[in-house]
Amino acid sequence: MMHFAQDLRDELEEMAASGALKGESLISSAQGARVDLEQRSVLNFCANNYLGLANHPVVVAAAKSALDRWGFGLSSVRFICGTQTQHDELERRLSAFLRTDATILYSSCFDANGGLFEVLLDERDAVISDELNHASIIDGIRLCKAERHRYRSRDMADLEMRLRACVGARRRLVVTDGVFSMDGHLAPLAQICDLAERYGAAVMVDDSHAAGFVGPTGAGTPELAGVQDRVDILSGTLGKALGGASGGYISGRADIVALLRQRSRPYLFSNTLPPPVVAGSLAALGLVASSSAERGRLDENARLFRQLMTAEGFDLVPGKHPIVPVMFGDAAITGRIAAAMLDEGVLVKAFSYPVVPKGQARIRVQLSAAHSDADVQVCVRAFVSARGLVEGTRRTAA
Ligand SMILES: *Cc1c(COP(=O)(O)O)cnc(C)c1O
Repeated sequence: MMHFAQDLRDELEEMAASGALKGESLISSAQGARVDLEQRSVLNFCANNYLGLANHPVVVAAAKSALDRWGFGLSSVRFICGTQTQHDELERRLSAFLRTDATILYSSCFDANGGLFEVLLDERDAVISDELNHASIIDGIRLCKAERHRYRSRDMADLEMRLRACVGARRRLVVTDGVFSMDGHLAPLAQICDLAERYGAAVMVDDSHAAGFVGPTGAGTPELAGVQDRVDILSGTLGKALGGASGGYISGRADIVALLRQRSRPYLFSNTLPPPVVAGSLAALGLVASSSAERGRLDENARLFRQLMTAEGFDLVPGKHPIVPVMFGDAAITGRIAAAMLDEGVLVKAFSYPVVPKGQARIRVQLSAAHSDADVQVCVRAFVSARGLVEGTRRTAA
C-alpha cells in the first residue's frame, strides 16, 4: 500500500512538472456568453453552448415547471419504473428531428457510444474507425470483440484499403465523428457512404458537435451532406447545442434501437434521465425545430470571427464550423496567450500535446449564438493584444 500511494504521488508530480495537469475554472454563475470567474465577469469562448440554450429562459422555465409536475428523479432504470411519458416523447421528437425511425436515450453520449458496439458486433465482425474519433467511441469499440481497424482521419483511400482488408467479416461498421472537435473538420460523409455501400458496410456517425445547428434544419452532418437516409446509426449529445444539460442518444433504424433497449448495458443498468433535464431538452429541441434564428446568429458569429481574425493575420484552421482553432504551434506560447486573454476578460482554452499533435498547439475558440457582434470584436482585440504582449516578452528575452 505504501508503494501504491507513493506511485500515485509520483505520477501526479510528473504530470505537474511537465505542465500536463488540467485545472478547472471555478464559475460562480450560469453558463452563457459571459460567466463570473473569481468575482469578474468574463466573456466565454470555450463552451459547447453553440445555440445559447444552456441558460435560455424558455428552457429554464420548462425545467423548473417539470420539477413540480414530474419530480426531481425517478430512482429507477428505464425498464423497471423509470420511463415517464416525457422520456418517450423526447425519443419520438428526436427521431422526427433527425428523420430516423427510432431513438434511445442514455445518461450521456459517452454511455451511448459505450453501449453500442458490443450489442451489434462480435468476433465475426469488423469495425473500421477514424483515428481521431472521440474517446467514448474508442472505449465502446474496446468493449466489443470485433476485429478493429483504424483509418487515417478523413482519408478515403486508407478507409477503402481497410474495408478491403475485412471483406470476410460477417458485419462491417464504419464509424466516424460528424465533426472532429479539435479542428472543426467535418467527416466526408457522402464519400464514406459511397465506400460503405461498395463494401457492404454500415455507417455510424457521432454528431455531438453538429446536432442542432449543422445542416439546413440543424439535423446535423448527414443532413448537410445529403446522406440522412444512408447513415445507419447516429449518436449525439443533449449536453452541447441541444440545451447543454446532459444526456445522449442513439438514433437510427427501429430494429437497431429495439435491440439496444434489450441489450445495451449502460441503458439497462444505469439510472434514467432526470425529469427536469428531459423537459428542458424537449424545450430546447422545440426551439431548434421551430426557428432558425439561433442557427443564423451562430453562423454569422463564426463567419465574423474568422473574417476579423484572418484580417489580423492569425493562422486559423479553415472551415465554417463554430469551432475555430487559432494555431500558435508552441505549447508554452499558446498557454501564455490564453492567460493574457483572461487578463483582458476573455476566457479561452489552450490545447497542446497530447490532446493535439506535437507542435500544433492552439487555442480552440467556440462561437455561440449567445455572443453579440461586439463580443466577437472584443475577443479578436484580446487576441491581438495578447499576441503583442507575448511577442514583446519574447523579444525582450531574446
Ligand atoms: C462531447 C462528445 C461526447 C460526449 O457527450 P456526453 O453527452 O457529454 O457524454 C461524445 N462524442 C463526441 C464526438 C463528443 O464531442
